[in-house]
Amino acid sequence: PERTLVLIKPDGVTRHLTGEVLRRIEAKGYTIVALEQRTVGTELLTEHYAEHQGKPFFAPLLEFMMSGPVVAAIAEGHGVIEGFRSLAGTTNPTSAAPGTIRGDLGRDWGTTVQQNLVHGSDSPESAEREIALWFPQG
Ligand code: ATP
Repeated sequence: PERTLVLIKPDGVTRHLTGEVLRRIEAKGYTIVALEQRTVGTELLTEHYAEHQGKPFFAPLLEFMMSGPVVAAIAEGHGVIEGFRSLAGTTNPTSAAPGTIRGDLGRDWGTTVQQNLVHGSDSPESAEREIALWFPQG
């Protein structure tokens, strides 16, 4: 079955929303097949966010992602890549639809980078690349 990489970003972990995010994934019917909390460094994040290198929010994004622990998970189930992105809502938490993780639990804190609680892979290719990066042991 399909798998996706889910990250609960430092704002989510610090605000004690780890359980709430995992609850929504499980309530939707997906299975958490790997789960680990860790602090990450520049090297991993530069690879993870390679597509954003050179953008104005790149440095603030890495700083934010290193500001506290991150929870990395692999979620599994048919359609989980699109399904989790639908659960997460759109990138900007101010306009993300109510009912979504970002819409219900996120807001704009006035920071340069959008603190939007979670990350989810955006395609099968991204999912494969990101899972290999975050869970190299498989
Ligand atoms: P994610 O990849 O984290 O699931 P996404 O696909 O909605 O979110 P991307 O476009 O991949 O967003 O951007 C990665 C992250 O960088 C966003 O989740 C957000 O934290 C931050 N970000 C993206 N665009 C902006 C922006 N214009 N201004 C500030 N921060 C941004």
